Order: sequence, then C-alpha cells, then structure tokens
Amino acid sequence: MHVPFNDLRLHHERLEPVLTETIARIIRDSEFIRGPEVDAFEREFAHLMGINHCISCANGTDALYIVMRALGLQPGDEVITTAHSWIATSETITQAGGRVVFCDTDADTFTIDPQQIEKKITPRTRGIIPVHLYGQAADMDPILDLARRHNLWVIEDCAQAHLATYRNRVVGTMGVAGTFSFYPGKNLGAMGDAGGIVTARDDLKDWMTIYSRHGGKGDHTMEGINSRMDGIQGAVLRLKLPHLRRWTEARRQIAARYNAGLAGVGDLQLPTIAPGRDHVYHLYVVRTKRRDALRDFLKARNIATVLNYPRALPFYPAYAYLGHRPEDFPNAYRNQSLILSLPIFPEMSEQQATCVIDAVKEFFSQKTG
Ligand SMILES: *Cc1c(COP(=O)(O)O)cnc(C)c1O
Repeated sequence: MHVPFNDLRLHHERLEPVLTETIARIIRDSEFIRGPEVDAFEREFAHLMGINHCISCANGTDALYIVMRALGLQPGDEVITTAHSWIATSETITQAGGRVVFCDTDADTFTIDPQQIEKKITPRTRGIIPVHLYGQAADMDPILDLARRHNLWVIEDCAQAHLATYRNRVVGTMGVAGTFSFYPGKNLGAMGDAGGIVTARDDLKDWMTIYSRHGGKGDHTMEGINSRMDGIQGAVLRLKLPHLRRWTEARRQIAARYNAGLAGVGDLQLPTIAPGRDHVYHLYVVRTKRRDALRDFLKARNIATVLNYPRALPFYPAYAYLGHRPEDFPNAYRNQSLILSLPIFPEMSEQQATCVIDAVKEFFSQKTG
C-alpha cells in the first residue's frame, strides 16, 4: 500500500464542486487581489480565534516580517527565537533589520526552552518569537512572564498550529500578535501562498494594514510593501474554515492510532504533550537512533516520510557567521539526527495508519546485526 506524506488531491476532492464554482465567480467578478472574499475571511478567522483583528497578507513569512516592522525593530536590535524551526522564523528577523539570537528547545516538546531564554537576554533584546512547532504550543506562561519583566514583545509563530491551545487559550492570542501561514500543506491551506496576522491591538492593525498595501492607496503616509492576499485564496480559505475543527479532530485520531500502535516499539520516542497543552498534529514526529535506516525501510515499503528539519537552524550554512557549536543547543542538535515525520493528514485511512504502524514494528523486530 502506498502511503503518501499528505494527499491534497483527496483533501480537495469533496469540496471540488463548490471550489470550482467559487473560483469561477471570482474570475467573472475579476476580484483577483483582496476583495470581498478576503475581507470576509479576515472577519471570520478573527471571530474563530476570538480576537479583534486578522490582517491578511501574501504568506506566513511576510506575516512575521510585517509584525516586526510594525513593532519598530531597529538595526542591531536582538530577537530571540528557537533553534528548531523552519527558516522563515529567523530569516525575517534579519530581513526586518534585527539580529537573530537562537535559543535551545526543551528536551521533550521541540519548542523553545523558557529557562534558556533568560540567559540570552541583553540590553539590545527587543522581543521573543516562540514557534508552536509541529502543532503543539510553546510554554507560553513563563515566556510571557519573562517578556513582562524585561519589557519585550512576544510574536507567536502559529504557522503549524491553527487552533492549538495553551491552558485553554488559543495560540496567536497570547502575544502582541500571532502569525499564520496558509501554505497549501498547512492545517488550513489555500491553493497557493497566503498568510495572516492576528492581534488585539487597534494601532498595530491600522499600521500593518497600511504598510502591507504600499503605505495606503492615494495617500501614501509611508513607504510600505506589497503583501496582499489573492481573492481566490481568500475564497478558498473561507470555504475551508468551517471544516478546520473536523480536520484537526481527524489528525488527532490518526495520532491516537500511532500512539497506541507504536508505544514501546524499539527505541522509538513518540510525541510528548506537556501539561495544559493540546496538539493539532500538523506533523507527527518520532525520534529514534536508527532514524536513517527506518526512513529507508519505510521508503522501500512505499511509505513517505520527511525530515522537519534536516538540521537545527544554527547549523545551516546561512548561520555559519554566528559560529555556533553543537554544545550551544544540545537538544536541538541531538534531535536533528533523531527526528522523523510520519505521514499524517485528515483524509488518511485507518488502513494506511495500520500499514505505517506494521512497517515500523517490522523494522524494529529485525536483528540490528
Ligand atoms: C510554513 C511556516 C512559515 C512560513 O509560512 P509561508 O506561508 O510558507 O511563508 C513560518 N514559520 C513556520 C514555523 C512555518 O512552518
């Protein structure tokens, strides 16, 4: 049985008639950039999150950049973020004129370790960007507490964690702003690039709205950038939004199957969920010392896996200038050779999940020789 890593064709199949009809209407109305569908999506997404404002933009990377510009990041300002994420989290700090300061993750959840953050704070530190990686919230209370004590802002990178919660608060609503990606493979995905920012602050909302649209139309109070959501993407996201909770539940069911079927198998470490948090399983990431061999074995069985990500951020050539060593980020460094993302998507069948479980078990039952 072939088990893909994700199956977007299947994901869209049931929505196809209504998607096709809606896209045809956008074409007829020529509402290609922003327009009523995008306005409505902004309102509906903010409503779902229980927050005042959603500002749409072109992608989740721009979302981070726009917030940092809105917060007035200055050249040389330092921003602390996790050593374990997608590079969008750190590259936008540099893009906004800041200096990236990496911080290790905790031993279990792949999210930034609040105890390590404090050691990284200097007089130049302006903010912290925790990432709710793989779909589990970072440990927000100690992070927010540190931020209050040191007068720092917190931007939540929610690109992988739509609707995840921390102590009953939904991610994106705890910091000064939360940023979202609607990349097609994310838990809520468009049919191209799209992103969004949520915030409770009226002043930030106004500034970011103007900034991301060339500093205003006809009245350029400042120079801005071009980061807008397409009309088609807004319409697609609006159609998908009512299904998000059900899709999240389906991901949790696959995860529950994996948890039951893979517990105690070989040296596998399954995802750990810290108290007070839930998990929306954008990714289901296991750890094993035999990661590469397991990956090859599954590939030979037609089961797709991914490394998210092949290296911790400080160890990519892009950050060689920081001169980091493995002992600077022991957890992130150790995890980079242990992690393996197993297939998980809402439409995954019970048979496909069983097929993955059986193959993993078979791998670990072989003699290591
Ligand atoms: C996907 C992602 C982003 C960037 O989103 P794009 O829409 O691809 O620009 C940022 N941070 C994290 C953690 C992501 O996974």
